[in-house]
Amino acid sequence: MLQEKDLAEELIARVRAYDPVVEEGVLSRAFVYAKTAHATQQRANGEPYFLHPVAVANILAGLRLDSASIITALLHDTVEDTAVTLEDIEKQFGKEISKLVDGVTKLTRLELQSERSKQSENFRKLVLAMSEDIRVLLVKLADRLHNMRTLHYIEDPAKRRRIARETMDIYVPLAERIGIQSVKDELQDLAFSALYPDAYQSIVNRLQYLKAQNPNLVSDIVGELTNILAKQGLDAVITGREKSPYSIWRKMQRANVTFEQLSDIMAFRVLVPDLAGCYQALGILHSTYPLIPGRFKDYISTPKSNDYRSLHTGLIGPFQQRIEVQIRTQEMHEIAEKGVAAHWQYKQGAQTDGRQYRWLRELLEILEASTPEEFLEHTRLEMFQEQVFCFTPKGDIIPMPKGSTPVDFAYNIHSDIGDRCTGARVNGRLVQLRTVLNNGDQVEIITSRSSTPSPSWEEFVVTGRAKACVRRFIRMQQRSQYAELGKTMLTKMFRAHSQTLTDKALEPLLPKFKRPTVEDLYAAVGEGLMTTREVLNALYPDLAVEKQQAVDAIPEIKARAKLRKPSRYAIPIRGLIPGMAINFAKCCHPLKGDLIVGIITTGKGVTIHTQECDNLNNFQNQPERWLEVAWEDETTESNVGRLSVMINNVMGGMGHVCTMIAKAGGNIANLKITNRTQDFFELMVDIEVRDAQHMLDVIAALRSHPVVVSVERYGSLNEPVRAAVH
Ligand code: MN
Repeated sequence: MLQEKDLAEELIARVRAYDPVVEEGVLSRAFVYAKTAHATQQRANGEPYFLHPVAVANILAGLRLDSASIITALLHDTVEDTAVTLEDIEKQFGKEISKLVDGVTKLTRLELQSERSKQSENFRKLVLAMSEDIRVLLVKLADRLHNMRTLHYIEDPAKRRRIARETMDIYVPLAERIGIQSVKDELQDLAFSALYPDAYQSIVNRLQYLKAQNPNLVSDIVGELTNILAKQGLDAVITGREKSPYSIWRKMQRANVTFEQLSDIMAFRVLVPDLAGCYQALGILHSTYPLIPGRFKDYISTPKSNDYRSLHTGLIGPFQQRIEVQIRTQEMHEIAEKGVAAHWQYKQGAQTDGRQYRWLRELLEILEASTPEEFLEHTRLEMFQEQVFCFTPKGDIIPMPKGSTPVDFAYNIHSDIGDRCTGARVNGRLVQLRTVLNNGDQVEIITSRSSTPSPSWEEFVVTGRAKACVRRFIRMQQRSQYAELGKTMLTKMFRAHSQTLTDKALEPLLPKFKRPTVEDLYAAVGEGLMTTREVLNALYPDLAVEKQQAVDAIPEIKARAKLRKPSRYAIPIRGLIPGMAINFAKCCHPLKGDLIVGIITTGKGVTIHTQECDNLNNFQNQPERWLEVAWEDETTESNVGRLSVMINNVMGGMGHVCTMIAKAGGNIANLKITNRTQDFFELMVDIEVRDAQHMLDVIAALRSHPVVVSVERYGSLNEPVRAAVH
C-alpha cells in the first residue's frame, strides 16, 4: 500500500536529516518486520496497531536519537503482544536491539504491578534502575507519550483515569529526572486533561477568551522585549507562549487564587549567545520593568539535579502585563528540552565541525565502550544503579543495595522475619537463601517459629541491618552454647571428684574470676578461657587436684594405642551447632559414628577430631585441652567426609569413580585432582554421607572397581597428614 510506504519513507527521511550515514536498509527491515508481526491487531480507535510503534519511532526521531532506539521503538511491542520472541529479534537485528527490546518489554510487564506500589517514589526508582540503558527509558517514555495522545479513544473512564494517574505519578517525574522538558510538559498536560477534564476545559476556554480579546498580545510583548535588549546591544532571540493549562492550574492551587485573579499566564524565553549575556539581559530587564518579588531564581549558578540551567524572573512587563521570563543560552535550552539526549551534542563544544549527528557517534561510542554502569555515570542515574528494588507479596517495594539476598529482604521487613526465615520464593519459585535478587523480583519469605539464623548467612548478606542482626544472634547463641558446654564439662569434672555442681555454690567464686554471672563463668569454661580444674580447686581447695590428676580423672585418650568408645563422662555434642561452640576439624573430617575426641581451643570452644587424626600428636603434651566427646543418636544431619582416591590413568576412570560414589548413595561435594602422573590420578573427594558406616560403604564400593588403586579417608593413621593443624 502506498500509504505505508510513505510512512516508512517519512520516518527514514527524518532520521537521515540528522544522521546522514544511517543504515536505511535495517530501518526499513524493522518497519516491515513490526508491520508483519502486528498484522491483524488493532488499537482502541480501530486503526491498525502498527501505526502505534511507527508513531513512537517518530517521537524519538524528533529527539534525534540513534537508529538503534528508532528500531527498538518499531519493535517495542512485538515480544509482549505478538508471537515474536527475543531470539527471533536477536537473529534478525542483533544483540544490541534484542537487549533494548527486552528492556522495554520488562518495563511494560512492570506496569502490571499493583496500584499500591506504583504510588511510591520507589516505583519510579525501580523503573529507572531497570532501564539499564537510558535508551530503554526513552523508548518507554515515547511509548507512553503516544498512548497518552490517543488516550481519549479508550472508552472505559476508570481505565483512562488509571492510565493518566500512572502517567502523572511515574512518567512525568521520570521525564523530568532525565531532563526532557518537552516530553514532560506534554505528558503532564495530557494527564491533567484526563484526570480533571472540567478544570482543564475551563482553563483552556479562559485562555482562548483572553487570546480573542487581544490576539497579538504575545507577539507585541516579544517585539518590545526584543527592542529593549537590542538597544543595549544584546542580540537575543525571544519566544513567548501561554503557559500550559497544567502549570496554570498548579499555580492557582498553590496561590489559592481564582483564574480571573491569576494574571501571569504568559511566559517568555530569552535565548542569548553566551553566559555573560544571560546576566546582562537580566540586568536590562530588571532595570526597565518592576519585578514581582520572590520570583527570581538563578538555576545557572545552582543547576537543578537534572542539569537544568536558566535564569527565571517575574516582571510587570510591557503593557502592564505580568509575565514570567526565562533567560538561557542555546546550549542550556537544548539540555532543558532534550535532557540526556542533548549532552552529547554539546560535549564537543567549540570544536564542533557543524555535523549535526556528531553527538550520536559519541553516544554510540560511550554505549559500546562502556558497561551499563559507566554509561549511567554519564547520565547521572548511577545512584539508582546501586540499588535493587523488590516487591513484597502485597506489592510494597523494598529498596536494597545491589547484591541483596532473600535474607536481607527478610530483615528489611522485620528482624523477627529475618530471624525466623527458613526459605524464600522469588517470583513463585523456591530459591536458596543466598540467591542474589534482581530488580522487580517478587519475594516471599517462608518462616518457621522454631527456626533461627544460621552463622553461614553472615557470609552472604549485604545490608548492614541483616549483618548486625545475624552477628548479634550468633554472639548470643555462641555465648549460650559456650555456657551449655562449660556447664556440662564442669558437671562431669565435679562428678568425677564426687562433688555436685550447683549454680549457687559457684556464686561466691564470681568476684575471684571476674565474671558477672554464673552463666558467664560457664561460658568462659566452654570457650576455653578457664579450665574446669581451676573452678574445682577454687571451690574445694582441699582436693588440690593436680593437672595430671584432672586428666586421669576424666578418662582421656592419652596413649591412643587403642581407640576408645565414649565413656559415661563423654560430652554429647548434640545440640551444639558446628561453627559455634564446636568445630569439626578440617584435617580429618569426622563423621557421625567415628570415634572422636575434642580439643579445647582458647576462645574458640572445642574442635572435634577423629581419634585417628595424626594432628592429635600436636596436643600430646597439653592433656588439659583434651575433652572426651561423643555423638548422640539423635544427631542426624549428614556430614561431609574426605577421601583420598588413587585411580589408574585410563579413559573414563574419573567417570567410574563418580558413578560408584553415586551408586553407594554418596553425594560429591567437591572433587580435586591432587596429583597426576603418566599412570595414576590422585583425587581428593569430599562426599556427603549419613555417617561413618555409610562412608565405609562408599569406600568398599570404590575398592570393588578395577580402576581404583587405593582409597583412604583423609587424616587416618595410614595416610600422611597433609592438612595443617586447625
Ligand atoms: Mn507500546
